[in-house]
Amino acid sequence: MKIKAKGSIVVVSAPSGAGKTSVCNAVIESDKNTVYSVSYTTRKPREGEKNGSEYFFTNEDKFKKMAKEGKFAEWAKVHGNYYGTPKSFLDKTLRNGKNVLLDIDVQGGLDIKKQYPEACMIFIMTPDLKTLKKRLVSRNKDSKETIKIRLENAEKELKSLNKYEYLVINGNLNEAVDRVKTIIKSLDYRIKKGTVCKVS
Ligand code: 5GP
Repeated sequence: MKIKAKGSIVVVSAPSGAGKTSVCNAVIESDKNTVYSVSYTTRKPREGEKNGSEYFFTNEDKFKKMAKEGKFAEWAKVHGNYYGTPKSFLDKTLRNGKNVLLDIDVQGGLDIKKQYPEACMIFIMTPDLKTLKKRLVSRNKDSKETIKIRLENAEKELKSLNKYEYLVINGNLNEAVDRVKTIIKSLDYRIKKGTVCKVS
């Protein structure tokens, strides 16, 4: 008898500056059963970003065509650019028994949950808004105006907190990574829709 387990979708959302990318990178590096879903975006690559690594960079026409063809499991406009989660990679990876980590915004996260009710929803936040502001200022990447917009967005995103299942406070990176890994570990033992049991 062979049992083929299905992987889980792990949605990780957070306000800008809460350390989501660092947490996700550390989780992916240390958990061989969890892979990162590389999104498509119309945003321009930042210094050091490579096509196919952080994102698949594309233009608005191509993005809209893909959206129309149903190539995205979800897509959204975030801070003025389009972002979308490729559907074929997601479904194929789950069928192969691996977990897929989606680093996406709240709108996208809630959309995924509607389509994949078993998706695990994790929200990452700093201990308070003051710390978030301090991090946004100290990373020295954004103008005062951008920081103001990001803080306003953070307050809006926090209103959706109740729709998530886990809250991971990122006061200390290692602790936050351990918490996310513990949550994912528990999912590996859950029976997911689509898990098959073949008698041979
Ligand atoms: P950044 O451009 O700073 O990498 O990401 C901006 C925001 O877009 C982040 O909140 C990130 O999680 C979100 N994002 C990245 N990829 C996707 C995606 O495929 N779908 C959605 N809805 N949001 C995404």
